[in-house]
Amino acid sequence: MNNYAHYDLPEPEKLFEAIGASKGVAIGKVYLFHRDKIEVEEGELSDAQIEAELIRLETAIERSEKELNKIATVTEQKVGVTYSQIFTAQIMMLHDEVMMNVVRNRIIQERKHASVVVSEEIGKYQQILLASKDASFRERVDDIQDLKERIIRNLQSGHLVSRIAEGSIVVASMLTPADVILFSRQNILGCATDGGGLTSHAALICQSLDVPMVVGLHQLADHVQTGQSIIVDGYTGTVVLNPTPETVATFERKQKRTTVSQTTIEKLAVAETKTKCGKRIHVYSNIDFKEEIPGVAKYGSEGVGLYRSENLYLSTGKQPSEAEQYDYYLQLAESVAPKPLTVRLFDIGGDKLLLSSYKETNPNLGWRGARILIDVPEILENQVRAILRANIHGNIKMMIPMIASVEEIQMIQKSVAKVKAELKKQKEIVNDEIELGTMIEVPSAVAMIEEITKMVDFVSIGTNDLIQYTLAVDRNNDIVQNLYNKFHPAIVRMVGSVIRTAKKNKCDVSMCGEMASDKLAIPLLLGLGLESFSIVSASVPTFKKIVSATTLDDAKELAKICLALPTAAEIEQELKRFKV
Ligand code: PEP
Ligand code: MG
Repeated sequence: MNNYAHYDLPEPEKLFEAIGASKGVAIGKVYLFHRDKIEVEEGELSDAQIEAELIRLETAIERSEKELNKIATVTEQKVGVTYSQIFTAQIMMLHDEVMMNVVRNRIIQERKHASVVVSEEIGKYQQILLASKDASFRERVDDIQDLKERIIRNLQSGHLVSRIAEGSIVVASMLTPADVILFSRQNILGCATDGGGLTSHAALICQSLDVPMVVGLHQLADHVQTGQSIIVDGYTGTVVLNPTPETVATFERKQKRTTVSQTTIEKLAVAETKTKCGKRIHVYSNIDFKEEIPGVAKYGSEGVGLYRSENLYLSTGKQPSEAEQYDYYLQLAESVAPKPLTVRLFDIGGDKLLLSSYKETNPNLGWRGARILIDVPEILENQVRAILRANIHGNIKMMIPMIASVEEIQMIQKSVAKVKAELKKQKEIVNDEIELGTMIEVPSAVAMIEEITKMVDFVSIGTNDLIQYTLAVDRNNDIVQNLYNKFHPAIVRMVGSVIRTAKKNKCDVSMCGEMASDKLAIPLLLGLGLESFSIVSASVPTFKKIVSATTLDDAKELAKICLALPTAAEIEQELKRFKV
């Protein structure tokens, strides 16, 4: 031993600049989340833990089987029995009593966690297949890997949250909306991800929960460890790792400055939304799950303009039954009544993946939204039944996602009519009146807006996807985020034309894409004639402030100028010059 005291040198402060995706400043400790890496749990189990571990294994196997059955059914309906056999083979492996008995015995005798034993035992099968001369056997290794990861994921799903300390800042290479929902229950303070874009669904959920988020950090996850100090500034897209006390003090001051005071929120919440010249404007909330309902009243919104119902899939990991849906929709509708609740039919697929094993090369251009609803009538009809039955207060509206053609609307309208007739015959509903609208988020729907607005009760412009599909820029890819521009003249003109045509055809028009809450865009949208907006509840107070400082004449003049400009930069410059 020497006499020198040992001091740990403080880690140097490191600054990362990327994209601010959800406003706010968070100061806390890192929780490093590996989504893609399946981690097995080390350590020896006690007698009591062995019992619990065996129950956990059975539950995980049951859950995996349910998921695989669902995937197999949908795959068979969509691409035929040849492909669905991949999944039935995986189910058979789950029933392989020889292997499962080995797993159970090893947990008992070796006192190892189920994840370790499952990983090793299925790993042995993979080695045997890899050594085979037959190529078709070798090809099965990936399927078995998928099965192995599914069981381990299901083993850990209940355990993940308990590992996150309350008040952590989650750092990950990427986060799904389901991840954020799960973490939000642990009151996370912020999120920082390597990938992702401004309107990725994880970012939208963070906005809605007032959780600051920075995306597009590229390799941050490789540089941090759980427990390190970190600051996430969602206003500027800055992340500071190992901040010095001075840096922490600076960001704490910013945190105080930027938090809208409760009294300001309360004052704005009761105020009617009117322009400076007195025109009444309507503002609704976008929500992803029921925990956000209190925000509707708190921030003074007039109801729910977009409820993304597909989150029921994402949070439960399976197709919600009609009964589960009925309960959920009824709770939502009752808690906002008499204000409206717009339920968007499941927008599953694309980046909001429903079936993790159903892989597409280009999911955003693949099987998603209305396409799945049309191809799998059971999903659509169950949901429509649940909605119609839950519409006891008459305040629910239905909205179809991802409409690209008139035929798609016709097909869905036909299914809705069929379900209504059945429910009436079964005397399950008295009133079958319900408004049916569509999202306008695919360029072909904009081109067909004349016809579409004559077919439906309302349309809602989804700029998040409309920008992605019109400009051919992936909304989740940070490398091309500079090209994902809501002020591209093509977008401004398309939005203008949808509003104009809808009003001419007396079809209600609203916007639920993120553009609707953009400070610069609000006067432009008012000038283009938009009178109904749906945004995250926390943005409502600022929205009201901007509207009340704008006169319609000025806004119309601004819109006229912008509609004639040829570049996004010039439009943005014009909007910045506009004083509200
Ligand atoms: C949109 O595309 O603008 C929209 C509101 O829907 P989502 O963000 O859920 O795709
Ligand atoms: Mg969309």
